[in-house]
Amino acid sequence: MTSRRTRARLVEQLRRAGIDDEAVLEIIATLPRHIFVDEALASRAYEDTALPIGFGQTISRPYTVARMTALLTRGRRLSRVLEVGTGSGYQTAVLAMCVEQVYSVERIVGLLRRARSRLRELELWNVHLKHDDGTVGWPEHAPYDGILVTAAVEEIPPALLEQLAPGGVLVLPAPHEGRLMLQRILRTAAGFEYERVEEAAFVPLLPGLR
Ligand code: SAH
Repeated sequence: MTSRRTRARLVEQLRRAGIDDEAVLEIIATLPRHIFVDEALASRAYEDTALPIGFGQTISRPYTVARMTALLTRGRRLSRVLEVGTGSGYQTAVLAMCVEQVYSVERIVGLLRRARSRLRELELWNVHLKHDDGTVGWPEHAPYDGILVTAAVEEIPPALLEQLAPGGVLVLPAPHEGRLMLQRILRTAAGFEYERVEEAAFVPLLPGLR
């Protein structure tokens, strides 16, 4: 139920859905997702679906995690990545396996604690976690060559654009012409280039700490 074979089936499903980044697919095939959800939900951990993780939040769909990671890395090994919305820590772990350093911010302390213990269990020591409102980013470690936001914003937070290195990319769900779209924003010497990738469903980015 939580075997490598079950994960391989999920990978095949993601391939059929259009994910073609082999490095990302290999990580999904390797990383146990069932340890990021409650034991009662472990049998559903390799379905391509979001699942509740408490505090009214969900672990993102594997498709979403794979798509966002591929959009962020574009096949390169990034050195510093900021994630806003640690949640279960699953997306954080995927990033830790393909970039050098991951900085991840979560506003709900109960989720952050659980994520921290899972990431330790997996011995992913290149992850740095912080309890904070990620709308302001994590300026102390900026600039980042990648920033990924795992909750829907109403407007693109200016602090995140500022903390992007030249050539860096910001991947996030944000509204465009009335629809929530997964977007990729590239910082160039001249400014910012916007790419709207596909429609998406995400929990909202919320203000304040819990
Ligand atoms: N990638 C996570 C997604 C969790 S859902 C996973 O797969 O488990 C989005 C997360 O963003 C939630 O944990 C939510 O608490 C967090 N979040 C929402 N608003 C936030 C904010 N302003 N700052 C930091 N985290 C936030």
